[in-house]
Amino acid sequence: MDEVERILLRREAIAKRVQELGEEVSADRDHSDPLLAVTILRGAVIFAADLVREIKGPVELDFMAVSSYGDASVSQGDVRVIKDLTEDIKGRDVLLVEDIVDTGHTIRFLLETLKQRGPRSIKVCALLDKVDRREVDVPIDYVGFRIPDAFVVGYGLDYAGRFRNHPEILALRPEALTS
Ligand code: 5GP
Repeated sequence: MDEVERILLRREAIAKRVQELGEEVSADRDHSDPLLAVTILRGAVIFAADLVREIKGPVELDFMAVSSYGDASVSQGDVRVIKDLTEDIKGRDVLLVEDIVDTGHTIRFLLETLKQRGPRSIKVCALLDKVDRREVDVPIDYVGFRIPDAFVVGYGLDYAGRFRNHPEILALRPEALTS
């Protein structure tokens, strides 16, 4: 059985939207200080690599990894830091770059954690938003695409480590998901 149900987003559509997001971020920027783009590992890496090249003005990069306890494909709302930032974000303008917002627990945890460190501003840019699945209300400043409730892979997103390098975003068949 083919695990892929359908192609949700083709590479041209992704590239066009990422360019628009870069323009939106650039238009809102205070160009006096470099923006610190905080990429959430590992799913947002490919999105972030494309996005930062569409943002005008200096952008610095940092990375953070978080994990939910329990099942990999069902968010538990119990988030922990696996890899912390290298930079001190006090007084910085931070852009959190996330692959997908689902229940919202991960972004809520990240915003709470990072706000305690005193950034000047913190905004969220998510490529994908499964708005129907939201359990906690979180502000998302820039959204690439609102998508239906399906498990998606490709363009950095994985299923059990696979599909990250696929250039399109694919929806998997629910019956193909074993965990
Ligand atoms: P949340 O905490 O908002 O429920 O979940 C966010 C995280 O769950 C995302 O960063 C991503 O790692 C994972 N996730 C949620 N939905 C999907 C999906 O459809 N595909 C993949 N590959 N990961 C997902």
